[in-house]
Amino acid sequence: MTGSKPSPGDITESRCTRCKAPTNHTIVAMVEGHIVRVQCNTCNGVHNYHKILAPRKAAAPAAGKVATPRTPKVDPLAAERQEWASLRPTMRTERAIAYAMTTRFKVNDIVDHPSFGIGLVKRLVAPNKVEILFADGIKLLRCQ
Ligand SMILES: [Zn+2]
Repeated sequence: MTGSKPSPGDITESRCTRCKAPTNHTIVAMVEGHIVRVQCNTCNGVHNYHKILAPRKAAAPAAGKVATPRTPKVDPLAAERQEWASLRPTMRTERAIAYAMTTRFKVNDIVDHPSFGIGLVKRLVAPNKVEILFADGIKLLRCQ
């Protein structure tokens, strides 16, 4: 188990606004897995959570760019996989064209790729590339 997730009631280290020092705090409130309110175990003051920046984290994002994503990230790959799954019943595999770099594809052609499996030609990307939606997402492949 690495990186156990905190939950309300847990003890975490935070910078206390009253003690002006990093002290142990009890987590009071959390939003979407992030600690937002804590209570100082030293002065019992409740305040917003101030994360103590670990000096080791050199790769931490620069101050000023505190991006707190409010909407859950949409994984484009997941969306593509979902699209493939929804289109799969409409793909007539008996008409699938075995993929080869020398093949000339048209949009909506069904492709049978040795590694990626059954796919649907989404877009012809000039002049000799084609975007094919596979179970594992859209791949850009060579074609004629
Ligand atoms: Zn305090």
